[in-house]
Amino acid sequence: MGVKCVKCGSNNTAEYLYGLPLFNEKLQQDMADNKVILGGCEVSDFDPKYHCNECDNDFGFSAKRLCDGEFTDYIEETVYYMFSIDYPEFGESKFTLSKENDKFYVRVYTPKHKYEKEIPEKEYKKNLTTIFEKAYVLEWNEEYVILPKVDGTKWKVEVKCNNGKTFSSIGKNCFAPYFKKAKSRYDYYSINFERN
Ligand SMILES: [Zn+2]
Repeated sequence: MGVKCVKCGSNNTAEYLYGLPLFNEKLQQDMADNKVILGGCEVSDFDPKYHCNECDNDFGFSAKRLCDGEFTDYIEETVYYMFSIDYPEFGESKFTLSKENDKFYVRVYTPKHKYEKEIPEKEYKKNLTTIFEKAYVLEWNEEYVILPKVDGTKWKVEVKCNNGKTFSSIGKNCFAPYFKKAKSRYDYYSINFERN
């Protein structure tokens, strides 16, 4: 089993191997089993880590993106990140990371409380690394929607960069494959705030 595809959720995925590989029996077997694909000799910041054998999607890109010839490092340039989750029985909770006048903040809003804390730049970037390079948020679909008979859980993520680039993804009754990984940041801070 490989790592989960960010688009379709399948574990039938292969890992790219870059550089000049050492051919041995294990590698031959892994290639035959579609667990490993040779990615070529040169590796750049813009190469994917994985390939999905089910939906043919390449995924696992770094937060450094080249889009329409324009380079953006989302860890350096993100000034606002928002994750919200709206449970029908509980109401909407929101988690934000923001950079304001060279200071870094984390905020958690629940239907009853609002918490805010200034955090070091290092912690801010560590959160963004989890969000972009472990939950692969920038590779999520624009929407994940299953229309229900009754209203279910809704969620949204939003990213804004200081160069004007934005990204968003929404869902209703359906979650992106790495949703829990992204939600882990909200969980971590909401539990910490509740305790203090
Ligand atoms: Zn896939």
